[in-house]
Amino acid sequence: SVRVRFAPSPTGYLHLGGLRTALYNFLFAKKYNGKLILRIEDTDQTRLVQGATDQILKDLHWAGIEIDEGPSIGGGYGSYLQSQRLEIYRNQVEVLLKNRSAYHCFCTEKRLQLLRKEAVRAQEIPKYDNKCRDLSKEEVTTRLQRGDPSCIRFKISDKEESFEDLVYGQISYNISLNEGDPVIVKSDGFPTYHFANVVDDHFMNVSHVLRGVEWQISTTKHLLLYRAFGWEPPKFAHLPLLMNSDGTKLSKRQGDVKISYYRENGIFPLALLNFIVHSGGGFTKDLERHLKPKCYTVEELAEQFDVSRINPSSGKLMSERLLEFNRLALKKHIEDKNEKTKLVADLKQMLKDKYRSRVQEGSLQLDDDYIKNILEWSVDRISKLSDLTEKNFEFIWAIPTAQNVSEDKMYVINLFKKKFEDLDELHTDKLNLFMRSFCKENKIKFGEFMKTLRYILSGLKEGPSVAEMISILGKRSTLERLGMCIN
Ligand code: GLU
Repeated sequence: SVRVRFAPSPTGYLHLGGLRTALYNFLFAKKYNGKLILRIEDTDQTRLVQGATDQILKDLHWAGIEIDEGPSIGGGYGSYLQSQRLEIYRNQVEVLLKNRSAYHCFCTEKRLQLLRKEAVRAQEIPKYDNKCRDLSKEEVTTRLQRGDPSCIRFKISDKEESFEDLVYGQISYNISLNEGDPVIVKSDGFPTYHFANVVDDHFMNVSHVLRGVEWQISTTKHLLLYRAFGWEPPKFAHLPLLMNSDGTKLSKRQGDVKISYYRENGIFPLALLNFIVHSGGGFTKDLERHLKPKCYTVEELAEQFDVSRINPSSGKLMSERLLEFNRLALKKHIEDKNEKTKLVADLKQMLKDKYRSRVQEGSLQLDDDYIKNILEWSVDRISKLSDLTEKNFEFIWAIPTAQNVSEDKMYVINLFKKKFEDLDELHTDKLNLFMRSFCKENKIKFGEFMKTLRYILSGLKEGPSVAEMISILGKRSTLERLGMCIN
């Protein structure tokens, strides 16, 4: 059965690249009815960031990535925090020591530094010279008993290793050309990433590893570990780098890659997911054929997901399309009754926050049905919920303060108001006809009258057509606003 995992290190926040990895694992699990594991790789104690694990959980939850097994939910293969699996690693490293695939190394940091310096001077690749590989059994025992600090290293082969990458095809690499035997357990007793990662993938029964391409070279090292244990390795699929649309690397500095940034800026999770999947293939023809962006549900994405279609060259994020996806997601949410109710509540809160002082005055128009109508009207006009809190929409929510109008005008407005009370259909075409005939009957200049009405209804000298304003404000609010200038 399919078991995949997302294995972030809690060394910072979740970024777009991380979310992409989580998403593809999620879709893969969903497509094959498998399980998605969340494993927190927190063995590098020096790089831990307080609160990062909670934030990652929160971000994944927000994005709609559903985890089947993980730190907060549990599961049959826990613990899902590496720092709580130290005993497992301790036992497993004994296996490798016993079968002589690993050895104790007593080289001091000073010696290692010297090696590095020499290599740099000789313009060679700095790598450990595997000195402790050949220590005698007796020497090792004595030094361990004496309490000399030591770490454990894994003997890597000096041959080329190959594997079939589900995205990149055949990958061959000779790890020993660039590094000496890697440390698998540090002198503080903590395992390193490579070791813990392999041990966990094995014991958590992981069937497929989908991860960023920056780990591709390490995979050959991991395969050597699997062999030393006599374990069957999982299948590997590496995901290409994500780039900006101009081909530059995504950088954390730009601030737009942190997931919380999108959440805080009114991007819908579904929009973000669609934005990501449209960046680098991996889906059936259906999705790729859509040059015009379309916002798919998670179910649709899972159904169309196909690892072998991932484009091995870097995926480009079309930043300019994000808002387009957001507009489509908003539209989708508005079509769903439950989602719409949630949007109404969210928008109401945003408006209350924005117009805090007006809330007390009671001059805000925020009843649910009214908000719902406005939301429906706005569907093709906005791409974020918060757009509706912008200045140009203010008149919708905030009843303008009573406008001073002359006696003559007041008389006309009063007439208009009486007639308007009988009008039931507020379609803009109908409204325009109605207002024109009103002006004709009363011998008033249409243009002038529109100016007056717009001003009374919105406090604006320019803006949307009066018919449009009336149709979105609705009958009750229109009458209320007209009434305010008549005494
Ligand atoms: N902890 C690694 C990371 O932060 C996991 C890499 C992997 O998926 O093997 O990316």
